[in-house]
Amino acid sequence: MQLTLWTYEGPPHIGAMRVATAMRGLHYVLHAPQGDTYADLLFTMIERRDARPPVTYTTFRAEDLGRDTAELFKQACAEAYARFRPQAMIVGASCTAELIQDDPGGLARALGLPVPVIPLELPAYQKKENWGASETFYRLVRALAPAPVAPAPGTSQGARDPRLCNILGPTALGFRHRDDLVEVRRLLARLGVGVNVVAPLGASPADLARLPEAAFNLVLYPETGRAAAQYLETAHGQPFVEIPPIGVGATRRFVEAVAERAGVAAGPVLDDPGSRLPWYARSVDSTYLTGKRVFVFGDATHAVALARLAAREIGFRVVGLGTYERGFAREVRAEAALHGIEALVADDYLEVEAAIQAASPDLVLGTQMERHVAKRLGLPCAVISAPAHVQDYPARHAPLMGFEGANVLFDTLVHPLMMGLEEHLLGLFREDREFHAEAAPSHLGASTVPPSMQDEARAPSPDRERVGVRVENAQDEAATDPLHRRDLSVEFSSLTPALSRTGEGAGRGPGDRPAATTAIWAPDAERELKKIPFFVRSRARTNTETFARERSIPLITLETLYDAKAHFGR
Ligand code: SF4
Repeated sequence: MQLTLWTYEGPPHIGAMRVATAMRGLHYVLHAPQGDTYADLLFTMIERRDARPPVTYTTFRAEDLGRDTAELFKQACAEAYARFRPQAMIVGASCTAELIQDDPGGLARALGLPVPVIPLELPAYQKKENWGASETFYRLVRALAPAPVAPAPGTSQGARDPRLCNILGPTALGFRHRDDLVEVRRLLARLGVGVNVVAPLGASPADLARLPEAAFNLVLYPETGRAAAQYLETAHGQPFVEIPPIGVGATRRFVEAVAERAGVAAGPVLDDPGSRLPWYARSVDSTYLTGKRVFVFGDATHAVALARLAAREIGFRVVGLGTYERGFAREVRAEAALHGIEALVADDYLEVEAAIQAASPDLVLGTQMERHVAKRLGLPCAVISAPAHVQDYPARHAPLMGFEGANVLFDTLVHPLMMGLEEHLLGLFREDREFHAEAAPSHLGASTVPPSMQDEARAPSPDRERVGVRVENAQDEAATDPLHRRDLSVEFSSLTPALSRTGEGAGRGPGDRPAATTAIWAPDAERELKKIPFFVRSRARTNTETFARERSIPLITLETLYDAKAHFGR
C-alpha cells in the first residue's frame, strides 16, 4: 500500500483510452466497474473534445459479481460492434476488472467479430498511464502492420521514397500535442519531407496498416511512441529519429537529423529558422535572467528539454531536475549530470515538494502539482508538462515544439518572474506602498503574498517580545546602503547548491517568512536580513538558520549572519 493524495499518472487503461480517443475508427471495450466512466471527462472537459471517447464500459455493479460478469463483457462487446461498426477494436480490463480475471481477449475472440480485435494486457498495479498508452499503440501497430513473411513488393527499403516519414507519439490528452504537430508538419514541409501517417492522433486502423510505406519514423514523444518505433525498425526495417524538437537547439538537431535521413538540405530551414528566442535571450533586458535558479520536474521528455533550454538558451541555472517516470530515469539522470546535480526520480509529490524547498529556486517549471507546491511556497511557476489542468489545453496556438514553440517557451518561462526594472526598484525602495518588498510582480495583478511582512512585523509576536525585538519603522530601513545590500544578495545567491543536494534547509516557509528553527533572530540581524533583496532573502535566511542549527547557536546575531555568509560563500 502507498498513501497517495496526488498521482502524476492515471492507471494504464487511461493511457489506452488516450490512444483510442486519438484515433478514428477504433473502439475500446473496457471491462470496468460502474463509475469508471469518470475518465470520459478527461477528454470532454479538460481537452474539450466535442464527442465522447470511443469507449464502451461494462460498468458492472456489486450485484453483478454474483452472476456471470464474463457474459456481461461479451454482451457489451457485441453491442459496441453492432452500434459503432469500427475498423478494429481493443479490449481490456481496468484495475478492478483485472482482479476478476475474466480474460477480455479470449471472450472477444469467442464472439468471432469480423474485424481485428486486439487484447490489451495492462497490469494496473504495476504500470501507469504513459506505459499504458505506449503498450496500446505498440500492440495496435504490431497487430495491424505485422512483419512480412517475405518483403512485400513495393515495401522493401529500396522502393520507399526516402522523403516520406511517419510521425509517432501524439495522443489525445497530450500536453500541447495538437499544436506541436502543426509545427512539426511545418518544419517537414519546409524541408520537402512528406508525412505518410501521423499516429495515433488522427489515424485509423487502416492508416496503421500503411505505416510500413514510409522510409523512416519520427518519434516526437518517446513515452508513447518509442516502443512502436522500435517494433517498426525491427519488423519493417524503418529507422527512426528520436529528437523531440523542444527548444531552438533541439529543433536544429531535429532538422539536421531529418534532413540527413531524407537526403534533403537542412540549410534553407536552419538559415532562416524564424525563432525570436535567441535574440530575446541575448537582448539586454534578459541580462537579469542570467543565473536565475530553476527547478524542473515533469515527464522525462519535457523535463530534459526544458532543463536544456533553460540553461543553454536563456542562461538560467538548473538547481533541480526530475521526473515521475521511472522508465525514463536514465535520460533524466544523464541530463542532470550535465548540470552538476543529481536527478530526482519520484512519483510522490511530497518528495518533490521537499526537493523544491531544499533547492530554493527562483522559478519552478513543472506539472499542475508543482504549480500547487510553488503557490504554497510563494514561488513563480510555469506548467511545462502533463498532468495539467484545463488552462493548459488552450484555445490559442501554443506549441512547445519547433521554432515557434521556442518563442512560446521563452514567454512562458519569463512571464512568472518579476520584471528586471521592478526587481531592481523593489531592492531599492522596499518601503513604497505599492512596490514594497512583499509585493507580487505588478504585471501579474493582485499580490499573491499573504499579509505583508510590514504588517506581520508590527503585530505583537511572543518570539519578538522575548528577545526584545523592537519593530522598526520602515523609514529606518530606507537609510541602508543599496550597494551593501547587493553584496549580500550576490554572495547568498551562490550558497545553496550543497544544501540542495543534502536536503538541508527543507521545511522553510514561503517567501521570507521564518519556519520553525532552533535559533531566534536578534533585531539587528533581522534588520540586516531585510536589506537583502526579497528574491534571495529566503535563501539567506535558510542558510543562516542552518548554520546556526549546526553549531547550536541559540540567537542569530549580526555576527552569525556574516559568519554564515562567509561559510557558505567559501
Ligand atoms: S477500477 Fe481503477 S480507475 Fe476505476 S475506480 Fe477502480 S481504481 Fe479507479
